[in-house]
Amino acid sequence: MLDVCLPGTGGMIPLENRWLTCCWLEYQGKAILIDCGEGTQIALKESGCKLSHLNTLLITHYHADHIAGLPGLLLTIGNSGKTSPLTLVGPKGLEQVVTALTVISPALPYPVYLCEIKEEKAGELTMDGVSIAYLPLNHWVPCFGYRITVNRKPIFNPQKAARLGVPVPLYKTLHAGQPVQLEDGRIVQPDMVLDGERAPIRVCYCTDTQPVEGMTDFARGADLLISEGMYGDNEMEEKAKEKGHMLFSDSARIAKECGAKRLWLTHFSPALTKPDAFSETAQRIFAPTVVAHDGIRITLSGD
Ligand SMILES: [Zn+2]
Ligand SMILES: [Zn+2]
Repeated sequence: MLDVCLPGTGGMIPLENRWLTCCWLEYQGKAILIDCGEGTQIALKESGCKLSHLNTLLITHYHADHIAGLPGLLLTIGNSGKTSPLTLVGPKGLEQVVTALTVISPALPYPVYLCEIKEEKAGELTMDGVSIAYLPLNHWVPCFGYRITVNRKPIFNPQKAARLGVPVPLYKTLHAGQPVQLEDGRIVQPDMVLDGERAPIRVCYCTDTQPVEGMTDFARGADLLISEGMYGDNEMEEKAKEKGHMLFSDSARIAKECGAKRLWLTHFSPALTKPDAFSETAQRIFAPTVVAHDGIRITLSGD
């Protein structure tokens, strides 16, 4: 099961009632955070995210609303009891940006590793058994969308195991893909008690960008697509193009085309004081659209 939370949903600047866009994903007690604008450490605490669980920080791009909270976040994590490494992943320039921002947080009680995505092309890496794919987006600066994939264990058939005389305490070992030896010496292989694969759980996070070719394939079949909704009103189309952002309706169209199960809109313009007022603009195109709010959360368990 994968827990997903948006502690903040704002774009550009933090507001009294809206923290900056970020996304917390937690799987088996290990967490990934995407982006850390100003005040993100407070947003995380308000949403009940345990900073000591954070192992990976993915940065979409180096605009202040996605990175300026880094020093405060690192220092706050230092007070959480964390001693295991934190890996930062981001576009080209990561080392320079992190070095500059962390002048005021030089000594931390845990190691920080940097993983710079040097080329602006799609790729994939694995962290703590979770696959992290990235796709170049279309913004003013290099910017990546991220897709988190959690593979699920295959279907276990207890009737098959019982017929073979496998004691119940050994079920777990077989389900984890290891053979077991019974008391009479027989070896039972996992494929003798498994009933096929389960679809993985996929969450896709794309902001800030204009609609890009490739995003539909990237987000294909996602259990949850989190995509930017900088502007709700379709009248803002020209401004969205000029600023390198998307409308609610752009994201809804992509969600529909990629066959996502649900869409969360985030990264609202500070001028968009009531994003909910434009829900229908997106829901007319893609019904399972949710105009997200700070602290929204879901546990995804797959099909
Ligand atoms: Zn932004
Ligand atoms: Zn930006």
